[in-house]
Amino acid sequence: MPGVTCGYCNSSDIEVLYALSNGSVSFSRRRLYSISEDDFCFSDAKVLKCRSCGLAYLFPKPDADYLHKAYETMEDSLYLAEEKGRAKSARLLLNKLSRIKKTGRLLDIGCASGIFLNEAKKLGWEVYGVELSSWAVNYAKENFGIGIFRGNLKDAKFPAGYFDAIVMLDSIEHLMDPLGCLTEAGRVLRDDGLLFISTPDIGSLLSRLMGRYWVGIKQSHLYYFNKRIISRILNDIGFKAVRFSRHIRFFSLNYLLLKLIPSKIRPKVKPLLDRLPFISSFLLTVNLGDQLEVYAVKNK
Ligand SMILES: [Zn+2]
Repeated sequence: MPGVTCGYCNSSDIEVLYALSNGSVSFSRRRLYSISEDDFCFSDAKVLKCRSCGLAYLFPKPDADYLHKAYETMEDSLYLAEEKGRAKSARLLLNKLSRIKKTGRLLDIGCASGIFLNEAKKLGWEVYGVELSSWAVNYAKENFGIGIFRGNLKDAKFPAGYFDAIVMLDSIEHLMDPLGCLTEAGRVLRDDGLLFISTPDIGSLLSRLMGRYWVGIKQSHLYYFNKRIISRILNDIGFKAVRFSRHIRFFSLNYLLLKLIPSKIRPKVKPLLDRLPFISSFLLTVNLGDQLEVYAVKNK
């Protein structure tokens, strides 16, 4: 695409991967950036891909202040309705992490309402989180007794080498400056600490089959990673990816059915589904192979 250069490797060999358009549908700012929203509203947005390094990203990006405000005011009751499944997903992941790090200080960057941190706390981790949404921070305080720093990682000013483990669960793709955040994560992580990232994999088979209709393509996703580019970025800032796997999640049948329904009519259908207890409480394992897990340690 003429006049555009890759923000990562500076190459000008940029292709338009997808042109996104959602006609006249418009969303409130708060809903668009909620965790469980999977639509987009830009009428002229594109997903661009750098042919040189493989990084894909949304173009144009929203204004930084606008985005910050959107996350600060974000509320998402649908996310909370899935607490049982998300807690189960968290326990599975903590079990995997324990093979590398058993306990210590754990930081969750973009921790939402603290469901993962609450499960980690039960296992003996000393938990910390950073999150922009006031609603999510208040929820974690009131329901789990976990104090979360409201703001960006840099603003939290944690001491160097403070954490034994840092997790970023579906958060790196939302960041305006993922490189800056990873660099700061490297500063506050101990030299023998573990960094864990989960993010939608644009290199996955499902992503390639579904194209722009892949569920990973969202207005709130500013960057799209695959194994190759995330390894390269981590390497460039002093990490080494030591293991990759596929992220497994648990969702209620209710939630998955709602995802199949156009978002415009979801609020009308949800109360009907909620009345069917079997549907709302039945948890399904979801592993479509399109969610990448990266385990990284510092390069010595
Ligand atoms: Zn590039």
